[in-house]
Amino acid sequence: MRVLEVRNITKKFGDFIAVDNVSFSTEEGSVFGLIGPNGAGKTTTLRMIMNIIIPDYGDISILGNSKMGTATDNIGYLPEERGMYRKMKVGALLLFLTKLKSMPKKEAQKQIDFWLERLELTDWKNKKIEELSKGMQQKLQFIATILHKPKLLILDEPFGGLDPINTNLIKDIILELKQNGTTIMFSTHVMESAEKLCDDIFLINKGREVLYGKLSNIKKSFGRENVLIEFEGNDDFLKKSKQIKKFDNYGRYVEAQLVKNADTQKLLKEAMEVSIIRRFEIKEPSLNDIFIESVNVSDAEGDENE
Ligand code: ATP
Repeated sequence: MRVLEVRNITKKFGDFIAVDNVSFSTEEGSVFGLIGPNGAGKTTTLRMIMNIIIPDYGDISILGNSKMGTATDNIGYLPEERGMYRKMKVGALLLFLTKLKSMPKKEAQKQIDFWLERLELTDWKNKKIEELSKGMQQKLQFIATILHKPKLLILDEPFGGLDPINTNLIKDIILELKQNGTTIMFSTHVMESAEKLCDDIFLINKGREVLYGKLSNIKKSFGRENVLIEFEGNDDFLKKSKQIKKFDNYGRYVEAQLVKNADTQKLLKEAMEVSIIRRFEIKEPSLNDIFIESVNVSDAEGDENE
């Protein structure tokens, strides 16, 4: 089932087109990553989905409903700007928010205790929000987003400002929620998180679609591979080999980008003739590589059209 469907949405601020004819959909129980550089139009897109701003063109339907008001209890939204009632106590705030989502009090209290424990905030339950660090406030806001068990989660930069341990914690929870059938959409420019979590991605640059589809298909269609080579000895083969387009030497190992349809066996043979190979690993391109290359190409095309 399609949980979210976005059709040809466009948003202008004055003469500036922040989002330009964007369409995508998300399947139930999947993780969808909206990725793109700073200022690409991610937050504007998410705000349109949340009905905070209205598209100039196009339409959006959530859980089969194009009138958002009726679906909001089924949505959890983590906005980019994190603002909470600073003087309120953690537990009281969460209880207040569950009331707004019409959750029965007993169930709400159970859920609040469970999630505070899970996010290691139990000791802060009776503290004021203003006493929490920025990262703790973000974890609290994440709890507020998921407490009412929404069917669709919309998270704007959920990992921004979190340390690696808490980033992993949130990643684990996102995957658990997915297992339970929740559909999750999040924006990020941290490619490592998107690569680990997403089934589908939409790469937006300057308001426009650059790449969209299943991450596995995008990787395949990118059609080139890298090779990691760890070796001892002469490295002349790297410069001479016709199989290599370019390479980066990281000291301990070399990462080589291959030419199209490269013969990796030939490269291995060339390397073995002049050095001792400790490791020879063919890698598909990382989402980071795909992101950088695709954004550069789309920027260059944009410049040509100007
Ligand atoms: P980041 O990763 O930096 O948060 P983003 O992809 O979320 O970026 P948006 O916040 O959607 O980008 O902004 C897209 C573009 O629209 C930017 O150039 C921004 O300056 C512009 N923009 C966003 N909101 C407004 C507004 N209310 N008025 C005018 N311009 C806006």
